[in-house]
Amino acid sequence: MKRVQVLVAGAGPVGTTAAFRLAQAGIDVLVVEALPACPDDMRASTMHPPTLDMLDTLGVLPELEAQGLRAPVYHYRNRRSGEVIAFDMGELSDVSAHPYRLQCEQFKLARLMVKRLEALRPGTVKFLHRLVGVQQDADGVTVQLETPFSIETVRADYLIGADGANSSVRKWTGTDFDGFTYPERFLTLSTDYPIEQHFDRLVSVNYVADLEEWCVLLRVPAFWRILVPTHSAMSDQELLSDAYKNAVVERLAMNGAAVQTSHRTLYRVHQRVAKQFRAGRILLAGDAAHLNNPLGGFGMNSGIHDVWNLTGRLLQILQEQGDADQLLDQYDRQRRSIAHSFVQSQTIENKRLLESGDGEQRSAMEIQLEGVARDPERRRAYLMRQSMYQSLTEEAAIA
Ligand SMILES: Cc1cc2nc3c(=O)[nH]c(=O)nc-3n(C[C@H](O)[C@H](O)[C@H](O)COP(=O)(O)OP(=O)(O)OC[C@H]3O[C@@H](n4cnc5c(N)ncnc54)[C@H](O)[C@@H]3O)c2cc1C
Repeated sequence: MKRVQVLVAGAGPVGTTAAFRLAQAGIDVLVVEALPACPDDMRASTMHPPTLDMLDTLGVLPELEAQGLRAPVYHYRNRRSGEVIAFDMGELSDVSAHPYRLQCEQFKLARLMVKRLEALRPGTVKFLHRLVGVQQDADGVTVQLETPFSIETVRADYLIGADGANSSVRKWTGTDFDGFTYPERFLTLSTDYPIEQHFDRLVSVNYVADLEEWCVLLRVPAFWRILVPTHSAMSDQELLSDAYKNAVVERLAMNGAAVQTSHRTLYRVHQRVAKQFRAGRILLAGDAAHLNNPLGGFGMNSGIHDVWNLTGRLLQILQEQGDADQLLDQYDRQRRSIAHSFVQSQTIENKRLLESGDGEQRSAMEIQLEGVARDPERRRAYLMRQSMYQSLTEEAAIA
């Protein structure tokens, strides 16, 4: 039976980042991934400043930046009135070496991490290995992996479940995943059409508020991405049709037929947090542990923050005889509490703000945001929160 110190389920951005940090420190780690390769997953495209700090520490940031766009400024816009409230992360340059968002698709990060892992320790990532069974005892965790032609067994000191929203690891631990699912799904359209020519001073990240159809306009190097909520009563076929795409684009005052798309994807959106992030030697991180709407770009970022916290603790346990119960229970308390107090509450509030844009009459939330933008002290506190630095400060204060 193969034995490793740490087994990571899932080669998404969270699992691969965890594995790379451990492998760099000399830990014997194995990543198992159900799919044949890291998929062209377009979901996350915003990386926040503290995440960039972490990726820089791992030595992967320059190569990632070469595949992305720096976005220091982001806009809240009112779709009807056209009013813009601008925030500039550059104001955080005294506290951050990376005072901007990096607009870069999540699959680029996962693939880069896999490449670096394979260069460091060939054979560390096993594709077409789906975790199908988990048992644990006082000394370790045993997992069964389904490959195209066999079932393999691996024994590990610790298992990190970074296997996404439908996490098998979470289900094997019997952990509840409480919260709710929004009735409407979100549709993303990717296009190489120069939509910036149709808006005044569009930046790379734009949250556009509207009572009837808010939207997010995001730039990545090769595309614009348009994110809109959909009508819950419509079928997938209707929502993914040319007619629906054209109608979305025409409501944004562009010619529907002229805006050709390279991707159209529907997402079901949840707000959920696992009841525990630790079950003995099994640790949950990323989407396996928490799900939230994408408004603010916190899902993947907070997953990377989970494994930054967790891998630091595993290194103390495996290399310095640290107290496993004390260290891993604190991981659970710190990251689960931040998932609730910051990620869930802020994303729910961000969605409410976008849904409140009337145009004729400013909503209370818009008036409040304008006040924040005008006041240097409140604006700085706001930027520290939205950039996710504040959540890391709060996490560190949790005993
Ligand atoms: C429209 C949209 C936009 C988003 N934008 C942002 C953003 O800008 N910024 C941000 O921070 N977040 C964003 N998110 C959220 C982000 O996409 C997720 O939080 C992120 O993908 C989580 O990464 P992960 O590695 O935990 O999980 P995943 O990316 O889901 O990776 C899990 C991996 O595990 C594998 N797997 C599953 N089951 C098994 C098994 N049994 N055995 C082995 N492998 C398995 C899967 O194949 C997959 O490769 C967005 C989400 C959506 C829907």
